[in-house]
Amino acid sequence: MSEFSVSKAVAWIKAASAALEKEETRLSDLDAAIGDGDHGANMRRGFVAVVKKLDAAESADLGALYKTVGMTLLSTVGGASGPLYGGFFLELGKRSMGRPAWDAAAMVDALKGGLADIQKRGKAELGDKTMVDALSPALDAMAGAGGDLAAATKAAAAAARDAATKTAPLLARKGRASYLGERSIGHEDPGANSLALLLETLSTTCEA
Ligand code: ADP
Ligand code: MG
Repeated sequence: MSEFSVSKAVAWIKAASAALEKEETRLSDLDAAIGDGDHGANMRRGFVAVVKKLDAAESADLGALYKTVGMTLLSTVGGASGPLYGGFFLELGKRSMGRPAWDAAAMVDALKGGLADIQKRGKAELGDKTMVDALSPALDAMAGAGGDLAAATKAAAAAARDAATKTAPLLARKGRASYLGERSIGHEDPGANSLALLLETLSTTCEA
């Protein structure tokens, strides 16, 4: 596949919403271990609201679509992850203004902008045990995988999942989990896991 259209983007967000709903308990359990146990509920609430918004009105292009996603997540998710995921999708929107579709290069550019926005807002570096640890290596894998969207997103999803697993031995340096200090070690980061779910559903959407 070489073009990721508005209808593909809608399919991605719906698949992400379904996956987040299915994994809600796991995400909240991960957050209960090193945070306050709300990450699964936060993400499900946000994506249910996003799907409602997308069903209510068609988006003219990818820019408009991701702006809707970002604004809705900003106002519904809450916690630390709400502004971070909201800002991420708003940046995807800014970088996709007027575009009816992404090719692989546009997808990588938009997602890299999203990562930069997360890091600008949250100040997390690689290894701080956050969603950045899943997104950053995933985008390296995507950029290195060439122009076929199915192959590129599959590589990104695998890298994100692997990296999310590898957050377990890390010491949390950002967000609520950082209050635990050494006791944050031994648990996977919930945000790295929700990020992996987003990229896994992006990959399955590109395969279909
Ligand atoms: P809260 O911690 O406010 O309850 P959530 O539970 O919804 O918010 O989200 C927690 C997740 O947010 C963490 O697992 C981590 O991945 C991510 N996170 C928290 N702070 C930051 C930050 N400064 N930069 C990047 N990601 C962060
Ligand atoms: Mg939480």
